[in-house]
Amino acid sequence: MTDSQPNIAVVGAGPGGYAAAFLAADLGMTVTLIDPEINPGGVCLYRGCIPSKAVLHVAKLLEESRQAKDWGIEFSAPKIDLARLRSWKEGVVKKLTAGLGVLSKQRKVHYIQGRAAFENSTTLRVTKSDGSEETLDFERILLATGSRPAIVPTLKIDSPRMMDSTGALNLEDIPGSLLVVGGGYIGLELGTVYAALGTRVTVVEMLPGLLPGADRDLVLPLHKRLEKMFESILLNTTVAAVKDEYSAIRATLKGQDGNTQEKVFDRVLVSVGRKPNSEIPGLEKTQVKLGARGFVQVNKQLQTDDPNIYAIGDLVGEPMLAHKAMHEGRTAVEAIAGHKVAFEPAAIPAVVFTDPEVAWCGLTETQAQNENREVKVAKFPWAASGRAITLDRPDGMTKLLIDPHTERLLGVGIVGVGAGELIAEAVLAIEMAALAKDVAMTIHPHPTLSETLMNSAEVFFGTSTDIYRPKRG
Ligand SMILES: Cc1cc2nc3c(=O)[nH]c(=O)nc-3n(C[C@H](O)[C@H](O)[C@H](O)COP(=O)(O)OP(=O)(O)OC[C@H]3O[C@@H](n4cnc5c(N)ncnc54)[C@H](O)[C@@H]3O)c2cc1C
Repeated sequence: MTDSQPNIAVVGAGPGGYAAAFLAADLGMTVTLIDPEINPGGVCLYRGCIPSKAVLHVAKLLEESRQAKDWGIEFSAPKIDLARLRSWKEGVVKKLTAGLGVLSKQRKVHYIQGRAAFENSTTLRVTKSDGSEETLDFERILLATGSRPAIVPTLKIDSPRMMDSTGALNLEDIPGSLLVVGGGYIGLELGTVYAALGTRVTVVEMLPGLLPGADRDLVLPLHKRLEKMFESILLNTTVAAVKDEYSAIRATLKGQDGNTQEKVFDRVLVSVGRKPNSEIPGLEKTQVKLGARGFVQVNKQLQTDDPNIYAIGDLVGEPMLAHKAMHEGRTAVEAIAGHKVAFEPAAIPAVVFTDPEVAWCGLTETQAQNENREVKVAKFPWAASGRAITLDRPDGMTKLLIDPHTERLLGVGIVGVGAGELIAEAVLAIEMAALAKDVAMTIHPHPTLSETLMNSAEVFFGTSTDIYRPKRG
């Protein structure tokens, strides 16, 4: 590499890849971006974050219109024009991906619609969408090939009634009944959409609780609401087999005690996690190494074991989230540009866009318990929040995890409507090494749900005036 900026290739144009490619172009690099889709966007924009949030927005509207009865407003039963809903969702995707196409052209990024394979560490063979091939040399290559849905061998049957998240987002019909295999965030978000549209949803989760990894007290209000929304939630249960009976799918469900029961569903959504797309053809011709679960191994500059190759996003590990991919993309490009950088965030937010939403960042209580770490937990129930009451949604809670010695904020968990927006303040506070006092003394606007962050810090000091705790002794 000379003093001038290098000629780089970015393989995969998801949120990680396009963010990296655009920043690289802004920093003066010559950039080639390669992806099978006509425009940048990747899983997040074409079949992940964006279409799921568009249909969840509609689900929220449907649920609120039903709840409005309690507020003295009664709507007649909604008429759902599925074709129109689908085309609206597709319009959202098109607007955003076409916009990225324009941004790519404006930056003079050389966008190739195709798939890349390695010839060696610095040479890619690209098979374009028209079938033609091109071999190109680069100084650096950044891999951002993302992930795909994991497959359970016993559930792999050839049936149009079996869906993964991509199939579920296609909204081909509103099935009478739907079995969701896996109680993680994707299954619960898409289950919420179908339930709001009128489908009887059953969720099966092999672990003892929904959203494994999240703190139980954050999951509880969601579980309670989903119990009303879904037909059933079966925990400690696995799907042992599925059989296509043409008019429906017969599923054999196996409980913890080994007992089985058979149930019939119109459709089945398998959402049991995601696998990194690390089987890039020719990767064995480089020095890139794979680690646990097939993730590409990288250092804090996102450089792989091959000095010419960097990797980011879902391809390199958890959390498999778009915002993590984007930030890694920026770090990798800055490292390639010779800046002194490292990817070591104090907090990466996670948001489950269900109703209520669940969001957390930094240390979780479960993690603190597992690591035997001493923390003080301060919780503020939304039943004491004026704003939550005006929304008729007191089923929320905000909690802070605080270092008892330094009083520094270590982690935040929120469950409630809009938790996904509220968590951003917590991420900033943790990144800025805020103390509980800083959060308590920051004047928050009233009446807002954001006040619950300040309120929970006041709970930590025993000075909250919105709840009453009798003094001990
Ligand atoms: C239903 C669903 C909902 C989600 N909701 C959210 C959410 O709300 N918030 C959130 O943060 N995350 C969400 N995610 C996760 C998010 O989509 C991913 O974390 C994110 O897309 C990862 O970005 P990435 O850049 O690593 O790769 P991806 O977005 O996976 O993009 C990788 C791209 O690389 C391409 N590619 C693969 N191999 C090659 C090759 N050899 N040559 C050229 N191109 C190749 C792929 O076709 C793809 O276009 C959701 C995912 C799903 C499935």
